[in-house]
Amino acid sequence: MNSESLFTVALGLMPPWQVLDLQFDLEKGRIDFQVGFTSGAKFTCPECGEAEQGVHDTRTRTWRHLNFFQYQAFIHADLPRVRCSGCGKTKQVPVPWARPGSGFSLLMEALLVVLAKQMPVRAVAQLMGLHDGQIWRVLDHYVEAARQQEDFSSVQSVGLDETASRRGHNYISLFHDLDQKRLLFACEGRDKAVVAAFVEDLEAHGGQSENIDSVCIDMSKSYVAGVGEHLPHAEITFDPFHVMAIVNKAVDLVRRQESKTEPLLKKTRYLWLRNEANRSQRQQEHFDSLPKSRLKTARAWRIKTLLQEIYQQCQTITDAEQALNRWYNWAIRCRLEPMKDAAKTIRRHWNGILSWFDGHLNNGGVEGTNGLIQAAKARARGYGTVRHLITMAYLVAGKLTHLPAPPFITRCCG
Ligand SMILES: [Zn+2]
Repeated sequence: MNSESLFTVALGLMPPWQVLDLQFDLEKGRIDFQVGFTSGAKFTCPECGEAEQGVHDTRTRTWRHLNFFQYQAFIHADLPRVRCSGCGKTKQVPVPWARPGSGFSLLMEALLVVLAKQMPVRAVAQLMGLHDGQIWRVLDHYVEAARQQEDFSSVQSVGLDETASRRGHNYISLFHDLDQKRLLFACEGRDKAVVAAFVEDLEAHGGQSENIDSVCIDMSKSYVAGVGEHLPHAEITFDPFHVMAIVNKAVDLVRRQESKTEPLLKKTRYLWLRNEANRSQRQQEHFDSLPKSRLKTARAWRIKTLLQEIYQQCQTITDAEQALNRWYNWAIRCRLEPMKDAAKTIRRHWNGILSWFDGHLNNGGVEGTNGLIQAAKARARGYGTVRHLITMAYLVAGKLTHLPAPPFITRCCG
């Protein structure tokens, strides 16, 4: 077998395509394959499917392929166009190794997708000797194509939260499937219109807004309004993490006010916010040494701790409602304005806070997905556009089932 035939097989080419010539340039570190079709070959019209069309003319194109050993590899070919006897149009014939318009072979694109799932795009670009933009174009294409084939018809429980794309300049809203633990939809903004955009996307993927029976959100007015308007069948549950965040913020406000006259409170911020398990030994000793019986901050902290215990210990809505009522009565009478405000916020969101206790929504899954979203942010870091962040979020957290398979086939010889 000569080397042209060998590479024809290795590249997976089928007649009429074959390797005509190859050039290896050690200095430039590259191998170039000239691929062509046998003269007189006939092609099917890509427009109407009319078979056996003669070649009208050709256009020379180049594709970057997977490396040959440590050397960059390129495929060159004169792409045929047919002037179709059926539909009368002049059309470029697609090639089996690349998709139309791409400067990469399919296997090279598959490798870029696999790498970008694991490492920052900038690192992939450096590794492969490419520009970032070339990689983003490939990712945008495959993520969008894979998403188009996703089926959302079984989606019933949705978690919605937001993340800042870059130092708080832009926000994106993230919609999670709480049962399948996957990112369903992401878009810019955090107003109520994002829920309308989600419903449109859901229905484009075979889902139905009436099937969404529960939604887990934070207490932002715009999310509450958006869900009320566009997912009217969904019961709202407020995410305990956000409920605790509001109470923690109130504790910190009490501390800040009190520390103006109480020097003991200096450098104690995290002592009040952290759980005992997360304090170092030194922090714990410091915390134990504070005179908690007279500090207002300690009173606020005890109120917070009780709420935390309610979340940890109450098994049913009935238990939780009794405990939450006792908690509210304490907090609203505590004479600490920030804590009273937090208690009022909780009273306003009462049913949504209690509905968490029926155990329907699994928030652990959202946290797992959020870890992936944070990884996506890290991988898209340095790219100003929200679109890149969203593409990366789908890639790592969307559980997309129609992405290209990894290019390296592992054959088992067992
Ligand atoms: Zn045709």
